Amino acid sequence: MKKIFLSIFLAGLGITVSAQKSIDQKVTELMAKMTLEEKIGQLNQYNDDITATGPITKDADKAGQVRVGKLGSILNAIGAKNTKNWQDQAMQSRLKIPLLFGQDVIHGFRTTFPIPLGETATWDMNLIEKSARIAAIEASAYGIHWTFAPMVDIGRDPRWGRVMEGAGEDTYLGTLVGKARVKGFQGNGLGNKDAVMACAKHFAAYGAAVGGRDYNSVDMSLRQLHETYLPPFKAVSDMGVATFMNSFNDINGIPATGNKYIQRDLLKGVWNFQGFVVSDWGSIGEMIPHGFAKDNKEAALKAILAGSDMDMESRSYTNHLAELVKEGKVDIQLIDDAVRRILTKKYELGLFDDPYRFINEKREKEQANNPEHRKFAREIGAKSIVLLKNENQLLPLSPTTKKVAIIGPFAKATVENHGFWSIAFPDDSQRIVTQFDGIKAQLDKNSELLYAKGCNANDNDKSLFAEAVETAKKADVVIMTLGEGHAMSGEAKSRSNIHFSGVQEDLLKEIAKTGKPIILMINAGRPLVFDWASENIPTIVYTWWLGTEAGNSIADVLFGKINPGGKLPMTFPRTEGQIPIYYNHYNTGRPAKNNTDRNYVSAYIDLDNDPAYPFGFGLSYTTFQYSDVNVSATQLKGNQTLTASVTLTNSGNYDGEEVVQLYIRDLVGKVVRPVKELKGFQKIFLKKGESKTVSFNITPEDLKFYDDELNFDWESGEFDIMIGTNSAQVQTKRVNWEK
Ligand code: BGC
Repeated sequence: MKKIFLSIFLAGLGITVSAQKSIDQKVTELMAKMTLEEKIGQLNQYNDDITATGPITKDADKAGQVRVGKLGSILNAIGAKNTKNWQDQAMQSRLKIPLLFGQDVIHGFRTTFPIPLGETATWDMNLIEKSARIAAIEASAYGIHWTFAPMVDIGRDPRWGRVMEGAGEDTYLGTLVGKARVKGFQGNGLGNKDAVMACAKHFAAYGAAVGGRDYNSVDMSLRQLHETYLPPFKAVSDMGVATFMNSFNDINGIPATGNKYIQRDLLKGVWNFQGFVVSDWGSIGEMIPHGFAKDNKEAALKAILAGSDMDMESRSYTNHLAELVKEGKVDIQLIDDAVRRILTKKYELGLFDDPYRFINEKREKEQANNPEHRKFAREIGAKSIVLLKNENQLLPLSPTTKKVAIIGPFAKATVENHGFWSIAFPDDSQRIVTQFDGIKAQLDKNSELLYAKGCNANDNDKSLFAEAVETAKKADVVIMTLGEGHAMSGEAKSRSNIHFSGVQEDLLKEIAKTGKPIILMINAGRPLVFDWASENIPTIVYTWWLGTEAGNSIADVLFGKINPGGKLPMTFPRTEGQIPIYYNHYNTGRPAKNNTDRNYVSAYIDLDNDPAYPFGFGLSYTTFQYSDVNVSATQLKGNQTLTASVTLTNSGNYDGEEVVQLYIRDLVGKVVRPVKELKGFQKIFLKKGESKTVSFNITPEDLKFYDDELNFDWESGEFDIMIGTNSAQVQTKRVNWEK
């Protein structure tokens, strides 16, 4: 009642008020009070340590800088106590603008989930979204507002160590995964207590580094950029991802951080992105060694002009922006735009209402070891596993097998199961379920689990071989656990040789000589090359890095509690010489002489093109038959919908899940088109003996592509509609579709 009278009274005076001021108004009012220095302060992000790592070192007293409003955000500050301490400093500043706490929450937080590449192998967007949701619940309980994830870089080169952090080689799949993860992190929207800001990174084309060498140059046509690398970014921008991170690489000669076309014109202009862009760590300053800026001042100038809003750790903005504004080189409007974007997110997160709203020791305790989250980690871990070979049906293994040996450097390892980009907590080694323990827990009590390490992951020491061979000889079945240590894939972890490191393959050969049945389990952050094993070991399981519950997830699959249904999100090469190798390549004009059945693919004289395992590949303990691939019409016109269908039958002995995949090829185009492109998939559960018709609706939207002038459209002509169990095994129907 009172409110109404007040409104009438104010209206009488010609003053209009709305019950709630919009965030926009609040930001405007706040900015009107800010000095230039305070505005620039919002554009700085520092690491939570006192040792300055950037090139400029005058910032030892970071807390003091927060108190004078010179810092807008901190990264790597974890935990209620720590974040509270920082926020207390911010509350002593003149305008009390709260700090933002950012962190790389890449695949879980207290509960570590499979690496993103592994999760992608589930092809299950609900699971992937849930994993990000839980990560946000846990991270926000530890004071974190903002995760630097998802990485939506398409990665076609397994030598690049960061493929572990993405969704693999395919744009369609990568877009869906990116969206699911943003949805999970941001939950029901910023402002809810457990919603954290997501960050689409690394903008752009970071995954296309020449030679798979991290941070390397990227030189590609704009058409390729738009068609293959940008769609996941565009999709998450459209759905309201809060932030973007730019990338270390240059794109066609211009570092992404100073790339106006990419950031200001495309992202903020054409795509109308409303969030803010943070630089990658020090990437503004790195434009100096790139040879794009002569000093930090010029780097600051180029970065702000290009649309980089927040400077992570290079100190270029804090040291030079004010000067650049005063010299008239940077328009204050550019600063204002960046500040507005950042403050808007702080308002949306509710930090102005309560700067401490994420800081709560009780919540932190509750999320320190959440059994429901662990249960989910176990499930998604098992569902990420890809069965590559099971020729003698050695799997699933009976829990009553008398003597099982687990041999290899990862059998009793702990943090190796977390993999790169996991957050180290002091109790990790007690919380992680080792492979040994997981398997032991499911073996019958009258059975025995033997163990030998055999070798380390990455050295030349064979002194443990003899013991491992003796152990194998005593066993009925040997589980070999080989692969990569947790710091062998990840940032700055490019490898030219992606075979098993050290003497692991030699160990495998020695154990194989015993003649004992071997289940080879491969733990890695990327596709490895294991040609000898593929030829000689009939049972191979790819387990990536599965996280806190790794041992249990693995045991669930090995003993058949969960029938594996994972499918590869990247093509697995037979040897490094085939890289880059990906399924959706173009044809050449000539058939390769040594490989005519693969027709117009270019090849080497000493190596044909077949991968070891194609994109989309993965077996099950049961078998699936594809029959009656059908299309609803073979002549279509305009905006019709085509239905393509297949009958899927579970023809084996176990209930199981299959990812039915739809690929399309546009036979002739204004520009050449890939030999096939994933355009749909469905994950289908069938009981043994059951059949189901699986259908896909296809519209002209699915036929669109970028031409050489960057028009995005489709063309009349013939299209192959393919359905199958992986990208190499499909059944095809041809249709004609006129505009
Ligand atoms: C990485 C980013 C990460 C940042 C902060 C950089 O080195 O490239 O992906 O978010 O560090 O840790």
